[in-house]
Amino acid sequence: MATAIVTGASQGIGECIVKRLAKDGYNVAINCYPSEGDRKNAEAVKAQCEEFGVEAEIFEADVSKYDACEEMVKKVKERFGSIDVLVNNAGITKDGLMVRMSEEQYDAVIAVNQKSVFNMTKFVGAVMMRQRSGAIVNLASVAGLYGNPGQINYSASKAAIIGMTKTSAKELGSRGIRVNAVAPGFIKTPMTDALTEEQRNAMLSVIAMRRYGTVDEIAGVVSFLVSDDASYVTGQTIEISGGLSM
Ligand code: NAD
Repeated sequence: MATAIVTGASQGIGECIVKRLAKDGYNVAINCYPSEGDRKNAEAVKAQCEEFGVEAEIFEADVSKYDACEEMVKKVKERFGSIDVLVNNAGITKDGLMVRMSEEQYDAVIAVNQKSVFNMTKFVGAVMMRQRSGAIVNLASVAGLYGNPGQINYSASKAAIIGMTKTSAKELGSRGIRVNAVAPGFIKTPMTDALTEEQRNAMLSVIAMRRYGTVDEIAGVVSFLVSDDASYVTGQTIEISGGLSM
């Protein structure tokens, strides 16, 4: 059976993606940040994945850390034998207007959102190159495509992910490995629950469909991108935003 690893899969979009891939028939490696709360959430996600009749295992690791990713990928390969799908989902925000943003705020977001994609793609990519097959999906954002006030760090990390998606697609394509990205707009999750009412209303007014997206609407596109239906699609970024910008 094929295996999928999803980073930051203890809640939100990552949780939904890992459950969708379990439903699609993948054994799943559920990465969660090493904290008590994340572990507890991940245990519930694991049980829900197992209900689809697949094997599921939790792997705690801070994906911004190079060595931790190397160690985790080794463990996932040992546990499942192959790694066929990687979804680089883990992400954080530390918003603030540029003139008031601290160096710590900037560096933390780059480390978690951007460096993690290098770490995981490098180590999982090596496994996939030996297999001569694999599919990778990176979580970008509309902030990386169009920018967003208060998110200089976040939009930098997400724009970088779009470039990294194209580069890794070019480097890995000849080995049968596809790499794509999705750029969600405004999706209802714990991350966006933190926004103010004013920020939410401002977003809704510019969305053609005048509603937020759901985590299932992200998971569905990810499921398609890793499937054989997308076997000739690579290096692409698919915007999932209800028509935020056209
Ligand atoms: P969320 O905060 O609900 O979930 C993020 C997950 O990442 C959590 O499980 C968290 O524990 C994990 N995580 C954070 N730092 C980590 C680390 N260092 N190591 C391992 N795991 C870590 O957020 P979400 O809304 O579900 O976002 C998921 C992804 O989708 C992110 O990359 C985010 O930037 C992207 N995205 C979200 C939206 C949205 O509207 N929610 C829009 C565009 C893009």
